[in-house]
Amino acid sequence: MSGAGTEPTGPAAEIRAQLLVLGAGPGGYTAAFRAADLGLDVVLVEREETLGGVCLNVGCIPSKALLHIAKVITEAELAAAHGVSFGAPQIELEQLRRWKDGVIGRLTGGLAALAKKRKVRVLRGEGQLTGPRTLAVGSTSVSFDHAVLATGSRAIGLAEVPHEDQRVMSATDALALAEIPGSLLVIGGGVIGLELAGVYDALGSRVTVVELSEQLIPGCDPDLVKPLHDRLSERYEGVHVRTRVQSIETSDAGLLARFAAMDPLTPESSSTLGTSVFDRVLVAVGRKPNSESLGLEAAGVAVDERGFVRVDAQRRTSNAHIHAIGDLVGPPLLAHKAAHEAKLAAEVIAGRDIELDIRGIPSVAYTDPEVAWVGLTETAARLADIPHQAVCFPWSASGRAVLSDTAAGLTKLIVDPQTSRILGAGIVGHNAGELIAEAGLALELETDTQDLALTVHAHPTLSETLAMAAEIAEGTATDLPPSRL
Ligand code: FAD
Repeated sequence: MSGAGTEPTGPAAEIRAQLLVLGAGPGGYTAAFRAADLGLDVVLVEREETLGGVCLNVGCIPSKALLHIAKVITEAELAAAHGVSFGAPQIELEQLRRWKDGVIGRLTGGLAALAKKRKVRVLRGEGQLTGPRTLAVGSTSVSFDHAVLATGSRAIGLAEVPHEDQRVMSATDALALAEIPGSLLVIGGGVIGLELAGVYDALGSRVTVVELSEQLIPGCDPDLVKPLHDRLSERYEGVHVRTRVQSIETSDAGLLARFAAMDPLTPESSSTLGTSVFDRVLVAVGRKPNSESLGLEAAGVAVDERGFVRVDAQRRTSNAHIHAIGDLVGPPLLAHKAAHEAKLAAEVIAGRDIELDIRGIPSVAYTDPEVAWVGLTETAARLADIPHQAVCFPWSASGRAVLSDTAAGLTKLIVDPQTSRILGAGIVGHNAGELIAEAGLALELETDTQDLALTVHAHPTLSETLAMAAEIAEGTATDLPPSRL
């Protein structure tokens, strides 16, 4: 582990800890730091060089760094249409890579310093449980009173794709920015695939996206995805839903992809659509938990049929001394969910009798436009027959949205028709990822539409659209024609 605070592991060393944390991603380091703040003696084990896990090293942070640059490029393009031109971007790939790596280094270095300040002992190496309260890291044996497992997840591969070919990329490879390919096929129209597609599109690649299911970002309401789908369809070489990649053949000329149309009624009988050649392929079709080689059986920790560790509402596993959190215990596979569970687990271990009690975990696609939602979706409400009212405020009626080129956006509230409480919210448009926080707070505070409509929002802001949507539910939206209420 880089930085001070690293525990030296001599031959056959033995270490004791009140709390052992395995894995130093947003789940693991948060659990370790919170537990240390609560007075526990903590050992944190990580196999990689730096702290921070997938999120800081090869996930949230590098992808958002590159998306920040992508946004600068596309906003400059838009400004050209309003009479201000900057010319075509000159991309120094090596400098861009160095800047992105510098951002990561600054943040992971900060974590190492925070660990040291808290006297969290950091052990570098691959950890494996050897019994109900022991773990081996190389020749070092750690015995513990409690453990938190936070080993995260990794990308799933596809049998029909030659992953051994250097031109076939995982998200991690894509973030390494080896080159800007002339053409890129993105397999998987979920959040990770679309964010990386956005980066390469802005940097100049011709991008094609294929998604197996009915829509991009499966799980999100279709009306929130539509403005994104429309924009990507205009910009990209192709955006194909209900489409499967049957095979990829490699040659010096490129990667030849064969596509098939998925019939939603008979998914097994797909018909061939055609072929195209790409310089590179990115596979982003989902993730699976890092649970196989942890020694879970030796420790008496049970997993479900998909390999996620089973936990209760305190994030305790089938071994009462061992908790598990983050991607390892199942969806949503998000850093803020991991960190939230981490604080809970640390506090439970420190003696507090609390349980997970949350109304909604926000999901954000940092695409252009951004898509964000929290709590109940309209689709889920319909499927589960939950009484609800869905109200939508179109951003074409927002001055801020119109002046900032995001008039196709939408703010939606899902409301309990009996109590007028907000059950969920979804937003598509610029800064949806930031705006959704207000809806998350409204959910946690059990706010109703009157509270939200009567909260004075600054003008002209996109945040006003939340109050306007609430006004629609109240039947009072002055910024829309009366017929729309
Ligand atoms: P991880 O971050 O996966 O950390 C687990 C750690 O455990 C790793 O450091 C690993 O090396 C270590 N480990 C595993 N096994 C062992 C072992 N046996 N011994 C020692 N160490 C071990 N989420 C968001 O919320 N927002 C985003 O914008 C976002 N963007 C993403 C973009 C990409 C490209 C990807 C791939 C993911 C993104 N995610 C995002 C998801 C997010 O990264 C994960 O949900 C989050 O990192 C999970 O945290 P974790 O602590 O559970 O596990």
